[in-house]
Amino acid sequence: MERVRCLIIGSGPAGYTAAIYTGRANISPVLYEGIQPGGQLTTTTEVENFPGYPEGVTGPQLMEDLRKQALRFGADIRTGLVTKTDLSQAPYKITIDDEKEIIADTVIIATGASAKYLGLDDEKKYAGMGVSACATCDGFFYRKKTVAVVGGGDTACEEAIYLAGLASKVYLIVRKPYLRASKIMQERVLNHEKIEVLFEHNTEGLFGENGVEGIHLVKRRGEADETHYDLAIDGFFLAIGHKPNSDVFKPFIETDETGYIKTIDGTPRTNVPGVFAAGDVADPHYRQAITAAGSGCKAAIEAERYLSENNL
Ligand code: NDP
Repeated sequence: MERVRCLIIGSGPAGYTAAIYTGRANISPVLYEGIQPGGQLTTTTEVENFPGYPEGVTGPQLMEDLRKQALRFGADIRTGLVTKTDLSQAPYKITIDDEKEIIADTVIIATGASAKYLGLDDEKKYAGMGVSACATCDGFFYRKKTVAVVGGGDTACEEAIYLAGLASKVYLIVRKPYLRASKIMQERVLNHEKIEVLFEHNTEGLFGENGVEGIHLVKRRGEADETHYDLAIDGFFLAIGHKPNSDVFKPFIETDETGYIKTIDGTPRTNVPGVFAAGDVADPHYRQAITAAGSGCKAAIEAERYLSENNL
């Protein structure tokens, strides 16, 4: 059985940054990339808000740069998915792809979160061509254009308001006859001149030649007065929630009710000593590449201290 001093799980900005720091600290980290090497950023196009890239950078290029930087300092980057964990006692046992077992003195969980999609074929067809699950990432491309946001929670309201600052018109598509968001967000959305809330609406599909040009909607689905119609839009934003990828750690690691890993205030420490969480898997609030990278750095420093304090 292989034993490693630091096992990093996940290959988004948090995982790679943790690998850069632990690599430079001579800890010889092993990083498993998971199901989507490079993480959520590989599904976006242009990244303009990551410091250090004044001209912007594409999501895949940014992740390739981070990966190369981690390799440069000796990170052992591998393909594989964590399928089982035993974090009941140190050192910790992690199973990869149901077969390989690794014993790790420290573990950095950087498995991220996955945006939820409606499950329409058109979401895949127009991925990166008008369909997005991140208004902060992609909103800028819809200046003075018309967009739709799906969802009725705080995220959807926040994204609708953010987009309304850029776009000329925002439709908020809500499946229920009311918003689930907090009162203050509801009021801001309902009183915003650029936002039109379409209650009791569901999305049936998208259309367009070279990217999204419109949306097929159904109003009051299943009711006697069910109606179908189309609206012209340029961008389609999903805001129906994220699912943190924490299931495989759950019996041992405390999470909140949504599944976000609970960390000790201001640190990446979890309830298990030597196991740290960084990036979106532990962050229901900011969910930015730069904040994920920052927490990956913190997790690496914590891991380094834990190893030296325990003479490992
Ligand atoms: P929520 O789970 O609160 O809301 C998800 C929304 O998406 C709901 O309106 C839900 O509809 C809708 N939805 C889910 N699935 C579908 C579907 N298949 N088709 C159409 N609509 C769908 O998620 P959020 O991401 O908005 O928020 C998560 C948590 O984070 C919440 O606790 C929220 O309060 C918090 N948050 C707080 C913020 C703040 O305080 N500033 C900002 C952002 C989030 P339905 O209502 O019908 O279930």
